[in-house]
This record gives sequence, C-alpha cells and structure tokens, in this order.
Amino acid sequence: MPRVRRALPSVDADRCTGCGWCVAVCEPRVLSLHVTGWRKSSTLDDPAACTGCALCAVRCPFDAIRMVRVPEKPSSFQVKR
Ligand code: SF4
Ligand code: SF4
Repeated sequence: MPRVRRALPSVDADRCTGCGWCVAVCEPRVLSLHVTGWRKSSTLDDPAACTGCALCAVRCPFDAIRMVRVPEKPSSFQVKR
C-alpha cells in the first residue's frame, strides 16, 4: 500500500491575532480559537480530521499559518469505511 504524504497547519502564536478567518474557512471545522490569558489564537483541535487543504494558511492575513509536511499518514488518520 502506498504511503500517503500530507501536511498539517502549524500556527505561529506570536503572529496570530485571533481574527478567526482560518476557523471560518475550515470546512471540516477542526480549527478553533483558544483563549490563553488575554489573547486568542487559532488551534488545530483534530489533526486526524484535517484534510491538509491549506485553505487556512492561504486565508490568514497575518501569515501565521505554515503547512508542515508530515512524513506519512499515521494509521490513526486512516479513514474508516
Ligand atoms: S487567520 Fe491567522 S491571525 Fe487569524 S486566527 Fe487564524 S491563524 Fe490567527
Ligand atoms: S488544512 Fe484545511 S482542513 Fe486542515 S485545518 Fe486548514 S482549512 Fe482546515
């Protein structure tokens, strides 16, 4: 079986303003804003359900999301049919 390569979003909390644009464009709804102290920042809640579409990274007006390639799709990411 071929290995599935994919990328996951990595949020730079120092650049993130908590504007929520990335949350709004994420179709599977796996991003949310988490409050830490006085600020909000985007967090990937469910990496297994992330499609790796990169829409969040494209939409972020503050260049706070970088897509990070992961070596292969871990078994926990397999879609159950
Ligand atoms: S779009 Fe960018 S700045 Fe706005 S919440 Fe998402 S990561 Fe943070
Ligand atoms: S890569 Fe796509 S599915 Fe994953 S968090 Fe970003 S918008 Fe959502």
